[in-house]
Amino acid sequence: MEKFNFKKKYGQNFIQNEDILNRIVESFDLDNEDIILEIGPGAGALTKKLIKFGNDVVAFEIDETLKEYLKGISTSNLKVIFKDFLEVNLRDYFGDSDKINVIANIPYYITTPIITKFIKENFIPKCMVLMVQKEVALRLCAKPKSSDYGAISVILNYFFDLDYLFTVSKEDFYPVPNIDSAIIKLNKKSANINLKSYEKFEKLVFDAFKQKRKNLRNNLKSYDLKKIEEILSKYSLNLTNRAEDLDYIIFVEISNII
Ligand code: SAM
Repeated sequence: MEKFNFKKKYGQNFIQNEDILNRIVESFDLDNEDIILEIGPGAGALTKKLIKFGNDVVAFEIDETLKEYLKGISTSNLKVIFKDFLEVNLRDYFGDSDKINVIANIPYYITTPIITKFIKENFIPKCMVLMVQKEVALRLCAKPKSSDYGAISVILNYFFDLDYLFTVSKEDFYPVPNIDSAIIKLNKKSANINLKSYEKFEKLVFDAFKQKRKNLRNNLKSYDLKKIEEILSKYSLNLTNRAEDLDYIIFVEISNII
């Protein structure tokens, strides 16, 4: 790829290490009928390995100048679509399929938009194997009472079981980025407590974490604190606790009654 003009604006740092590529694709537990959705195939380093599983692979790439690299790996089970993934309507391509496995080495600047896109379109993939910046990975997978735990950890915990799989050194990419990355795996939760309104839940969670050092009484001033207190007391908590003390289930329960 000596002549390729790597574009910073698309977060183009391609993986160069074969072992890492193998470890990523081996993180999936695919069934025969499953479909692989790849976001940002780049020059196809992961794609070449993914097609070998024999499952259908649908890849969305924003940069048309990568066409000449990707056309070399055309097989009957691969469809490459040159579109901005954030602009795509998922149901247009996948209907209501519950067999979607997402794989993406995501540019850092669209990590949250990509993950929340699935939630906002109410299209929760069976599994997602994502490469993100290491700090972001720690935040997404954080558990209550840790300093990395925040609004996005709570929201993802409602939909997925999250695992931090392994760290990838920045030296394993070309061009070499500024910081290390990590692979995380998100498995859709099989059963879950009912959520009445995602919008209410999301707002509550972001409000509760608005000022991280402040307690719930301060951050949730505009809510019916009596009702919130009732739920908290079930868990031996109260309004002097901080958002970081609350498991996602407590946020769901609160959002269901306000
Ligand atoms: N998958 C390759 C790899 O691991 O070596 C490339 C990963 S590179 C970090 C990110 C890729 O996502 C680039 O190919 C970039 O052009 C593509 N990309 C960036 N924004 C995108 C978007 N909104 N929709 C689809 N692809 C995008």
